[in-house]
Amino acid sequence: MLRGALKRCVSGIHFEKGEFVLPVKKDDSFAAVQKQLERIVNMLNLEPAVYQILKEPRRVVVVSFQVEMDDGSVKTFTGYRSQHNNVLGPYKGGIRFHPDVYFEEVKALSVWMTMKCAVVGSPFGGGKGGVTVDPRKLSKRELEKLSRAYIRAIANNIGSEKDIPAPDVYTNAQIMAWMADEYSKVKGYNDLGVVTGKPLSMGGSVGRNEATASGVMITIREAAATLGIKLPEAKVAVQGYGNAGSILATLIAAHGSSIVAVADSSGAAYNPAGMDPKELLLYKKETGSVVGFPGSQKLTTDEFFAVDCDIMVPAALENQINAERAATIKAKIVAEAANGPTTPEGDAVLTERGILMIPDILCNAGGVTVSYFEWVQNNYSYYWTAEEVAERLENTMVCSFKEVYDLYTDQCKCQTEPLSMRDGAYMLAVTRLAEAMRIRGWLGHS
Ligand code: GLU
Repeated sequence: MLRGALKRCVSGIHFEKGEFVLPVKKDDSFAAVQKQLERIVNMLNLEPAVYQILKEPRRVVVVSFQVEMDDGSVKTFTGYRSQHNNVLGPYKGGIRFHPDVYFEEVKALSVWMTMKCAVVGSPFGGGKGGVTVDPRKLSKRELEKLSRAYIRAIANNIGSEKDIPAPDVYTNAQIMAWMADEYSKVKGYNDLGVVTGKPLSMGGSVGRNEATASGVMITIREAAATLGIKLPEAKVAVQGYGNAGSILATLIAAHGSSIVAVADSSGAAYNPAGMDPKELLLYKKETGSVVGFPGSQKLTTDEFFAVDCDIMVPAALENQINAERAATIKAKIVAEAANGPTTPEGDAVLTERGILMIPDILCNAGGVTVSYFEWVQNNYSYYWTAEEVAERLENTMVCSFKEVYDLYTDQCKCQTEPLSMRDGAYMLAVTRLAEAMRIRGWLGHS
């Protein structure tokens, strides 16, 4: 009886042998990031307590909540918020609405946020949230109800000094506005800094919408200069044509590069003569996919990763570049606009093949950097110009790229195993986190 009742009201979480069991889907992202952290802590000869603290999130909130659908039925959804580490500041990170969102994935995403904020020096810790839902199947009204219900469910765990959500996969400025509004209603006062990535009319920052892509563009420009690749002659392939992928394609095309391949969840469009990124976006809006774009050839995702190009930009989901795909990549630069697009096996192949990989925790950090700017502006109630935002973003990304690249090349000289730029980025982040933990007395006495 109890079992049946629980099953009906707590979707995703089930009751087995007298215990609640969380839905665990086979994905190794969290185990892989734990391994990576342990490796870096050992390489840097840091206190073992550093790994003990970083290996698990401090808290993962799992909530279930109901939404009344347009047809009058009531549906239960499962949501998460993982708060990984806050030694550098309040937890910070996006909220994802996707049918594949689950416990272990949100945990891995929150660790990456801790690392990302530490790499670019944003005074935040790492958090990530999500709801297991396909938002494309909801009406606007249902989406608003779901966004508000999720925020009500986690309201006591967030706040502008505690944990600050933002957009991620399939969430946007409108959803952030509903969330900030709902949170302010729960608290009884306006707390605009509780969420970033809001619309301009509600305390958003100019430049936030395109910030992730702008940051990716800056790191690609720096990497290309390092390798002597001329952007006006470069061929680019972009996987994922959402916010980051489509804006990045437009930005890099403005540097004269040619967009030869674009992929989405339905497959890929390939044209060695190049495609217009704005036309591609219009086509995707009209038809739902980039596949079939006039003048292009249809490719499978595996074929997409093997196209002839200089720069490959995974801008979709995790675990896209595995060992097999990494072995076929022709690009000299892989720029990780997505979070976690390369598996550890894929990483090893890219490193061995000498492909310069700009790791996610550096490459896509423009988004959280401008989120930080938005939060500062909310706290001051004083807003910056587009030029001020762009200049500060440029400084942050250029300086972070150089710090990571220099550390990576230095460490290549003194470590025995082959290193990637990802290792350099983790070394920078973990060193900063360890310093802060040590000075706060979190590491014990030695
Ligand atoms: N979801 C973005 C990311 O993964 C932005 C996070 C934020 O702005 O807090 O970096």
